[in-house]
Amino acid sequence: MTEIDPQHPAPSPGAARHPFARDLDRTSANYVPLTPVSLLARAASAAGGRIAVIDGDRHLSYADLYARCRRLASGLAAHGIGTLDTVAILAPNVPEMIEAHFAVPMLGAVLNPLNTRLDPATIAFSLAHGGARALIVESEYAPLAARALAELERPLLVVAIGEADVADAISYENLLASGDPDHAWTGPTDEWQSLCLLYTSGTTGDPKGAVYSHRGAYLQALGNAVTFGLTAESVYLWTLPMFHCSGWSYPWASVAACATQICLRKVEPAAIFRLIAEHGVTHLCGAPIVLSMIAHAPESDRVAFPQRVRCAVGGAAPSSTIIRTMEELGFQVLHLYGATESYGPATVCLAQPDWTELSDADRYARMARQGVPLATLEATGVVDPETDRPVPQDGATVGEIRLRGNTVMKGYLGNPDATARALAGGWYRTGDLAVWHPDGSVEIKDRAKDIIISGGENISSLEVEEVLMRHPAIMLAAVVARPDPTWGESPCAFLEVKPGAEPPTDHDVIAFCRERMARFKVPKTVVFGPLPKTSTGKIQKFVLRDRARGL
Ligand code: ADP
Repeated sequence: MTEIDPQHPAPSPGAARHPFARDLDRTSANYVPLTPVSLLARAASAAGGRIAVIDGDRHLSYADLYARCRRLASGLAAHGIGTLDTVAILAPNVPEMIEAHFAVPMLGAVLNPLNTRLDPATIAFSLAHGGARALIVESEYAPLAARALAELERPLLVVAIGEADVADAISYENLLASGDPDHAWTGPTDEWQSLCLLYTSGTTGDPKGAVYSHRGAYLQALGNAVTFGLTAESVYLWTLPMFHCSGWSYPWASVAACATQICLRKVEPAAIFRLIAEHGVTHLCGAPIVLSMIAHAPESDRVAFPQRVRCAVGGAAPSSTIIRTMEELGFQVLHLYGATESYGPATVCLAQPDWTELSDADRYARMARQGVPLATLEATGVVDPETDRPVPQDGATVGEIRLRGNTVMKGYLGNPDATARALAGGWYRTGDLAVWHPDGSVEIKDRAKDIIISGGENISSLEVEEVLMRHPAIMLAAVVARPDPTWGESPCAFLEVKPGAEPPTDHDVIAFCRERMARFKVPKTVVFGPLPKTSTGKIQKFVLRDRARGL
């Protein structure tokens, strides 16, 4: 007997004769597999003269960008790159990075943006694991690429941007010159086809290769554009590394909106302020570390600008101190939550009209919460990992955040076990712990691995960090578990002091915490010094946990 799928029951006899089931076929007139590449074709025809990308003195119109992408696709095709071939790229936020995000998928090939801050062995591992057939490399990373390539057993087609000095490389500009600006591309026949391969940044250990589809990237582009309010008037500044979750899908989102993208190689506050003023930047994204750099920029780096700049922050909740300073400087902060596995942002904190009546402190606390799925994500929830049932919306019971929808990755490349674990039960299991509030908002407490359990009580490291960051001399705080003979674990705080500030003593810090939190949450150990960060600016808590164990 055939099993009946309750979601798709078998048609009842006679249904085929139903008027809605007849002569209403899916044809190429009414059904086209979704792909982000078509967003560029549309932008070039609708807004060909508009500036798509600015990099220093270089200005590319949408017509230029489309022609360059078609040239690149055609040039790579002439070297035998085609459907499902992996093309890796090692580059800072330069126009070529944006071009690759369209040209490689145009061929049905898979783009693998590589983390530029990794060591040669890990780059070589990614090239081998991802099965790269070509590597596009920008001059700044030529030495890194050369060392990684030396560890690979097979040759790759190497395409060098600028003066990149890599043996046997062909020049990116020569490849474009040889390519056809009218290259005919067709798009995938199946929108589920793989489009990008993104290795997670490894905050909790082994990098895994999340695979995106054309459909997912298209929807995420639109979801981002709507959520962040991108329009053809928007000017988007690249303060987020484009290699990180494909820049949270913003290369596609910006093009969907026909916005202008401003390239930036290095996140330096002086350059950020200068570009904001010079180009009338309206939007930027970044991890809290980027906001922190902007917020703590010395007076000499700051330039006044008349517009209000929308600034999306994700990767960790922004502290109240950062939100306050950013607002004072002319930024409007939007808090996002997501992961490489969800094409970047999956949920957002949507400001409610009555928040204007809240005190600043209450408003910042609300802004640090999450819970509203992007329009293109199907659902989110906080679930008891043992029972798989939603936790009560009581603001106290801790559960795991789960995500479901078309903007969740296809899975991890070549890792069926990790894929099955991550997507078990029809949800993406984020491994992030949170409580659900009665108003439906979600307050992230920790990663499952980061929560501190002291005397049987759960301590959210994020909560303790939020208080520490309010200390006037503290720039960055990370709190991890340290083994404790009495309590099992106790909180251990690692602190970076603001440049030029008088460093507090550990007694000062502990006294500051005692006044502001329950006794059991107060760090028992305080360590000053620079914090180890991942290439995307996230604090590597596993390194700190090791350090805390050795104290
Ligand atoms: P990695 O997992 O290697 O750090 P990701 O960039 O995919 O790489 O990180 C996603 C993780 O970042 C999430 O699972 C979550 O732990 C954390 N994160 C993202 N956004 C937020 C946020 N708004 N608040 C707290 N944590 C966040």
